[in-house]
Amino acid sequence: MEKKNIDWANLGFAYMKTDKRYVSNYKDGAWDEGALISDANVVINECAGVLQYAQTVFEGLKAYTTEDGHIVTFRPDLNAERLEASARRLEIPVFPKERFLDAIHQVVEANAAYVPPYGSGATLYIRPYIFGSNAVIGVKPADEYQFRVFTTPVGPYFKGGAKPITIRVSDYDRAAPHGTGNIKAGLNYAMSLQAIVEAHEQGYDENLYLDAATRTKVEETGGANFLFVTKDGKLVTPKSNSILPSITRRSLVYVAQHYLGMEAEEREVTMEEVKDFAECGLCGTAAVISPVGKIVDHGKEICFPSGMEEMGPVTKKLYDTLTGIQMGRIQAPAGWIEVIL
Ligand SMILES: *Cc1c(COP(=O)(O)O)cnc(C)c1O
Repeated sequence: MEKKNIDWANLGFAYMKTDKRYVSNYKDGAWDEGALISDANVVINECAGVLQYAQTVFEGLKAYTTEDGHIVTFRPDLNAERLEASARRLEIPVFPKERFLDAIHQVVEANAAYVPPYGSGATLYIRPYIFGSNAVIGVKPADEYQFRVFTTPVGPYFKGGAKPITIRVSDYDRAAPHGTGNIKAGLNYAMSLQAIVEAHEQGYDENLYLDAATRTKVEETGGANFLFVTKDGKLVTPKSNSILPSITRRSLVYVAQHYLGMEAEEREVTMEEVKDFAECGLCGTAAVISPVGKIVDHGKEICFPSGMEEMGPVTKKLYDTLTGIQMGRIQAPAGWIEVIL
C-alpha cells in the first residue's frame, strides 16, 4: 500500500478529508447494514434533532503504525462501551459493540494510506459519532439516527517535546452532579468554549474545573482527566461521577500498578491539597499526557516542583511506558492492541 504524500512531521491537529468514511443509518427501530462511502458531507433536514437539541454523542481514538509495521488501534472495545453509555444517557439507540469494532476496522483499512509511518509522531485520528437525523421540533428523542466514523491524520501533539502547560481554575462549571459530565457528548464541549477562549486570552492553556456542588474538589479540564503524583511517588486520580472516564487515565493507572510497581489511588482530590503534589498531568487520547507546570487559582500560583521545562520524572515514566506499549516496543496487556493490518 502506497502512503499518501503528506508531510507527516508538520501536520497539525486539523481536519483533512480522507478517502472513506463508514455510515450506518437507524430507521424504523433498526440500524441498517452500514457501508463505506466517499461523500464527506452529511445532508439532513433543517430541523434534525442534532441541530435543534444537540442530540449527539461521540468518541475519539487513534490508529498508528507500530515499530514492526502493523497498523493498530488502542483498546477500541472501551470506546465502544463508552459510546454505548453516552448514547443511553441521551436516549440514542445503541450501536452494537461488535459492529462498532467492525466499523473502526473497515474505515482504518480503507484509509490505510493516511496512517502515518512509525516514528513520525503523527497518527490517524478516528472520530465515531451518532446524531439524531430526522426532524424534531417538540422536545423528544429523534426517531432516526446516523452512526458515522471518519478519520483524519493529525500531527504529533507536541512538536519538539512536551513543555509543561499553565492552567487556571475556572469560574465556570463544567458538569452538574447528576448531569452529563460523565458522557462524551458535544453539549459538554459547547458550553466549555467561552471558558477556553477566555483562558487563552488570559494566557492560560486550559481550565481546571471544580465540582459544581461545592467548588472545592478537582474535576477535570475541558477534554482531559487529571493525574497527580504525590511526593512519595503514588499516582492519584480524581474520583467523581461527573468526569469523563478517560481510557488513557484508566490505562495509565494499570501501567502504574502493573508495570511500574506504583501505588495508585482513585479518590476525591481537594483543590486545597493540590499544592502538596510533586507532579501534575492531563491525560487523553490526543496527547497521552500533557504535563502541567503551574495552576493559577485566582492569582494564587501553584508551581509544581517538576517545573516549567520538562515532564516530571514519574509522569515521564508513565508516558514512556504507555506510549511504548502502544507502539509495540513494550509487551502490551492482553487485548489492548487491536491489529488492523
Ligand atoms: C475524551 C475526553 C477525555 C479523554 O478520554 P480518553 O479516552 O483518554 O481520550 C477526558 N475528558 C473529557 C471531557 C473527554 O471528552
